[in-house]
Amino acid sequence: MKNIKACILCGSKRYEIFGITKGCTGLMYFIVRCPECGSLFLPGKFDSMEHNPDMGYVTVSKSSDRGRHIPRNKRYVLYNRDRRKAFRVYSDFIKRNKPSGKILDVGCGDGYFLTFFSRDKYERYGVEFNKNNYNRCLKNKLENVFYGRFRSFRTKKKFDVIVMLLYIAHSESSLANLRKCYRLLKKGGIIFLETGNANSDVARRLGTNGVFFREAPAHRYFPSDETIVKMLERAGFSDAEILVPKTEDIISLWARKG
Ligand SMILES: [Zn+2]
Repeated sequence: MKNIKACILCGSKRYEIFGITKGCTGLMYFIVRCPECGSLFLPGKFDSMEHNPDMGYVTVSKSSDRGRHIPRNKRYVLYNRDRRKAFRVYSDFIKRNKPSGKILDVGCGDGYFLTFFSRDKYERYGVEFNKNNYNRCLKNKLENVFYGRFRSFRTKKKFDVIVMLLYIAHSESSLANLRKCYRLLKKGGIIFLETGNANSDVARRLGTNGVFFREAPAHRYFPSDETIVKMLERAGFSDAEILVPKTEDIISLWARKG
């Protein structure tokens, strides 16, 4: 395989083929595994936006579906969940740990998650590069949303909480993004993540036929409960903790800037 890039987590140039998947573009993609750290990723460069400008980034507007992160016209079991219920659990957890302050949602979609945080206790910030979603943020009365990619987001502000929900698998430079989150957090600040899990029971059973992999190349990094913790640690975070049984197909976790 030509133009293999170094492992996104440990920098190793070695790799082994983990499998082949039929991606969301209808093309076949190799998924490789780093033998040093176990990270799974797509070799080579992909711009998920060039490959599929719409899929994977549409948050549908029906209120019961709002915040769902599903490709249009697809009803994957993986995402067929009540986002409102999940967002309530996540936001309650965050509020217990940070009852007020500045919260930044990276890849905030239509801003639905931020609306779980009251304006009088939280300063709510978002980053979103889908124009339609950005406009929905404005409709949701979220004024502090940056329209663009996270790598272009510049601020002198420091945050108490940074959230990345179903974002990191899309990220072209996941470690650099987590390092940026670390820099943007106050000391003692927390990062809260939600991601698919390549170690889940479902993923193990279906292998690269599983939905997590079939989102390639919109998904280009396939975290597991193990590699995402390693990546958080490498970005500087401590006390990373997975909040659901790690056999689940979607895991949430948090870590702290010590
Ligand atoms: Zn590696």
